[in-house]
Amino acid sequence: VVFHLLTHLLKSDRSFTCHSCLLEDKAAQSLLNKMIHTSLVNTTNQVEVLQRDPNSPLYSVKTFEELRLKDKLLKGVYDMGFNRPSKIQENALPMMLAEPPQNLIAQSQSGTGKTAAFVLAMLSHVDPTNKWAQCLCIAPTYELALQTGKVIEQMGKFYPEVKLAYAIRGNKLDRGAKLQEQIVIGTPGTVLDWCSKLKIINPKKISVFVLDEADVMIATQGHQDQSIRIQRMLPKECQMLLFSATFEDSVWKFAERVVPDPNIIKLKREEETLDTIKQYYVLCSDKEEKFTALCNIYGAITIAQAMIFCHTRRTAGWLAAELTKEGHVVALLSGEMTVEQRAAIIERFREGKEKVLVTTNVCSRGIDVEQVSVVINFDLPMDKYGNADNETYLHRIGRTGRFGKRGLAVNMIDSKHSMNILNQIEEHFNKKINKLDTDDLDEIE
Ligand code: ADP
Repeated sequence: VVFHLLTHLLKSDRSFTCHSCLLEDKAAQSLLNKMIHTSLVNTTNQVEVLQRDPNSPLYSVKTFEELRLKDKLLKGVYDMGFNRPSKIQENALPMMLAEPPQNLIAQSQSGTGKTAAFVLAMLSHVDPTNKWAQCLCIAPTYELALQTGKVIEQMGKFYPEVKLAYAIRGNKLDRGAKLQEQIVIGTPGTVLDWCSKLKIINPKKISVFVLDEADVMIATQGHQDQSIRIQRMLPKECQMLLFSATFEDSVWKFAERVVPDPNIIKLKREEETLDTIKQYYVLCSDKEEKFTALCNIYGAITIAQAMIFCHTRRTAGWLAAELTKEGHVVALLSGEMTVEQRAAIIERFREGKEKVLVTTNVCSRGIDVEQVSVVINFDLPMDKYGNADNETYLHRIGRTGRFGKRGLAVNMIDSKHSMNILNQIEEHFNKKINKLDTDDLDEIE
């Protein structure tokens, strides 16, 4: 078993998890999500609101007008194509814009309107006649900070008096140089330097502090410590806002340290289910036979859009090349690509330019491609110990209850080990996975 595991690890091109990889991985995932979400994610779940003071009335808004924004800002909002507040914004915006300011911790999946919400809050709070930093926003990486900066610029398009500065590595300012910009967005290290060592920002004059992507932020201890040190320099009455896509215990503990007396808004992810999915397996003897089986069902699967998952980059690359040789048009999403390249490929696939996307698990985690109705597990998902990775299985093929169309999943089995994983999956979900005879395809029609 040890030998098997070792050879497996050596063969696989997945690296062992280390902390900076984890941050990179999470940050890349997050950036990718931002780049591909060009509109709001659909959700039928209810927002949960926990007020700091449960006796105060709970305001929610159905229109942007109700918020009494400055005309220039309202214009910016409409210019971005927003007609009405998103679910999370309905509650978050009145809280963030209330007088006196209220603190907020908000959690909802990527694409639900968190960034737009805090950007609007920052833009509403600044006084453009004051030429110093008033709003401070920190993000885990340079790229994520730039992405948020773009939203600030876009939403503030008709409010040019408000200026934005980027506190990111490479943006060198002299010690004691005073910022004129009212909004600062940056990464924790540089922001901390600007506030303490270089005294470019006077933290005592900050009235809104935003910590974005808290779940990504805490992937490194360094970021966590820097964030807390920044927060400690801010005045007591500064408004503190924290956002996260997920809410594990660790995020929660961190959030409580950064945001005193918070209001809390949560929007649960839509539950995924296998109820509307037809699941099959195909028995093969090796990789080549899996390929042949895949070619046999290719016509049937490309009636819809399909995603094919492989365990390693190498298999994914090989498979995409082989399919191309057969004359099929497929897209490949692979780990060595930059986030921009990945975003472009996902975009093309979403537009239907390719019907088949070959990928590894690492690349596709967190990406929802709604129209995909066929999933092929060329390799079954497993954890680092070689056991079934049920959560990933569900995430690959599961549908969110109410939006879910019917789907088809085909699992390719080529060893005792993969059969064993399949059995574990069947048992875990208590659903039988039927054998598919690829020479007789009437069944999957
Ligand atoms: P999050 O920060 O939760 O990932 P974003 O604020 O980036 O979400 O919003 C996701 C996408 O939805 C973006 O393309 C954004 O422009 C758009 N969006 C945000 N709020 C609204 C709204 N009220 N109406 C329409 N689109 C919106």
